Amino acid sequence: MNTSSDKEIKSEVIPEQMGYDTKFKFKCHKGVKCFTKCCRGIDIMLTPYDIITMKKRLGITSEEFLAIYADIHILEKADLPVVTLKLLDDDQKSCPFVEDAEGCTIYEDRPSTCRYYPLGMGSLSYASEMNSSDAFFFMVKESHCLGFEEPKEWSVAEWREDQGVNIRDEVNAGWTDLIVRKKTVPASIKLAEQSKKMFFTACYDIDKFRRFVFESSFFEKFTVDPARVEEIKADDVKLLQFGFEWLKSLLFTEGDIKVNKDNK
Ligand code: SF4
Ligand code: SF4
Repeated sequence: MNTSSDKEIKSEVIPEQMGYDTKFKFKCHKGVKCFTKCCRGIDIMLTPYDIITMKKRLGITSEEFLAIYADIHILEKADLPVVTLKLLDDDQKSCPFVEDAEGCTIYEDRPSTCRYYPLGMGSLSYASEMNSSDAFFFMVKESHCLGFEEPKEWSVAEWREDQGVNIRDEVNAGWTDLIVRKKTVPASIKLAEQSKKMFFTACYDIDKFRRFVFESSFFEKFTVDPARVEEIKADDVKLLQFGFEWLKSLLFTEGDIKVNKDNK
């Protein structure tokens, strides 16, 4: 039974900057007393790649996924929309995918935030001030988490590999770059609402973005190599990465996707 104190999750950020080789002790498994406690009452930011893998896992469209499982917020410093996982309206604010005995029912496709823990997701917090090659990490310790008492030792690099965050960060790099770029633009320069809607569609609503690209006059307006067109037609992840590049051209007039001369 859960008491009210069970609901209180206190997170402590350990004030130590970690690199890829830094070691730490941690293990999460079904045998820990706190099993699944971390899947309740927390904010889980969803990356664009998370939404693609999760909607595929659930066999639904991105529009259905967003309607059922997403809360939408505006990231203050960047003034851009971001998505978090909508928690259940129960007394523990549970993740919709957690089961007491089994744990995560979408484990192979769980979001990046769940994979990173107990490491802090450094990319968005450091990147505005630092070059991405200077990435650093930090440890987040939740008060109820007993995983730190386990003897298994990892380096940060080993943990990232084991949890599958490398591929996710690679796919999401264009999205991170857009947010970081926007953060560096003076707050007085505002994006038009239409541009923010475009950002939302291209980053989080891949099925709608696909219709926008392939069922409109998109290719009359923008020059795209025919081989690239075939590639993005067949693959959501490639289309997502194309969307990041297109947004870079649209919002920051940088990048390789050019407006056709006839449409200028
Ligand atoms: S609280 Fe920590 S050890 Fe317990 S299930 Fe969650 S991550 Fe694993
Ligand atoms: S997605 Fe899975 S790992 Fe993440 S909070 Fe939900 S149940 Fe836990």
